[in-house]
Amino acid sequence: MADLDSAANASTHPGKRARTESDAFIVVKSQDLWFPKGDIIIRTTSEAAVIPRTRMMYKVHKDILALHCTAFADIFGGPQAAFEGVSEQDEGAPVMDLPDAEEDVSAFLKALYFPTETKLHPGVLNPYLGGEKWNLIPSSYHGTLRLATKYDAAGIRRLIIEALLQEWPTVLGQWDRLRQALANTLPLVPEENHWSCYPSSGNMIRLAMDCNVPDALPSAFYDLSCAVEDERDDGLSLLTSKELCTFTTGQRALYTRFSNMCRDFSNGACRSETCSAQGKSDCADVMGELWQTVAAFQTVASRPSDPLAWIGFLPQCVDASGAALCSQCQRWSKSEFIKMRKALWKELPGFFSLANSVTTSWGYECEDRGLYYP
Ligand SMILES: [Zn+2]
Repeated sequence: MADLDSAANASTHPGKRARTESDAFIVVKSQDLWFPKGDIIIRTTSEAAVIPRTRMMYKVHKDILALHCTAFADIFGGPQAAFEGVSEQDEGAPVMDLPDAEEDVSAFLKALYFPTETKLHPGVLNPYLGGEKWNLIPSSYHGTLRLATKYDAAGIRRLIIEALLQEWPTVLGQWDRLRQALANTLPLVPEENHWSCYPSSGNMIRLAMDCNVPDALPSAFYDLSCAVEDERDDGLSLLTSKELCTFTTGQRALYTRFSNMCRDFSNGACRSETCSAQGKSDCADVMGELWQTVAAFQTVASRPSDPLAWIGFLPQCVDASGAALCSQCQRWSKSEFIKMRKALWKELPGFFSLANSVTTSWGYECEDRGLYYP
């Protein structure tokens, strides 16, 4: 609260030194957030270097601020005279300077007063919206989440995080639904605009790191691992050097784990325990060929771009093998692939040094069904 305190103190003693041109600022009243019966005026202290500077003012209600934010409840909860006595007054209400950016303050107050607007983020599950960059998290989310974190507005914070986790899920089923939605959408979009359909993982990592949302990070880091490979995301530029290190280490661990999974599978029995070997050839041989295909791909591409998609593709290969595999081995291998995907997903936090940061239920679904395969 140091910022807020120092800002309040600054406004306590207006005119103590001679004003210079750089002190001058134009005050603008917010159109949306100026309630005549409000009992407090929030004023932003713009940091823009433009002279004269603009300061936005919002006439709002102490009760509303205190209801949502512990920090404001503490300020207003003390002896009334203490806060109001030291504050500059305007239009019958005390003025409180906030050092935060005007864009952030507007977004945050709108979330308090007009919560439905905050829920309007179209999201990746919606159809393509005519070229809009709906892959980016709206900047209003950044501002709202930043200030909800800073001023301890737990309810608003939870709302925003829930919305973010819809797009950067903790469970594989939701990840698969998003990928399916993306796959359904891409054919409807001109090819030059495909990039705009992929959610920006770099954008999410920046926000999650800045506002402490660890649960969104494993899926965002995973996506960035694939995105960098596809060269369709400039998200790396948003990472600090430490985060970049976490990312590259995690990406390497992810692909090593996937390679080992493939190796273990192909070195295993490669057939169901109840294999009836009714096919045209031995089931273990057919399965071995399948994995050789995967191995060959890895050699060509040096690493697979999207291991979860790769394993998800394998059941189709089994189906394509037709009668070459007995029905028991077909069922068995498909259930093994589902297990592999789930295992890889649950290990994502560990790859990116997040195992101790995410919630303990990260990766666990209530319904343990393979949503990837309808
Ligand atoms: Zn078999």
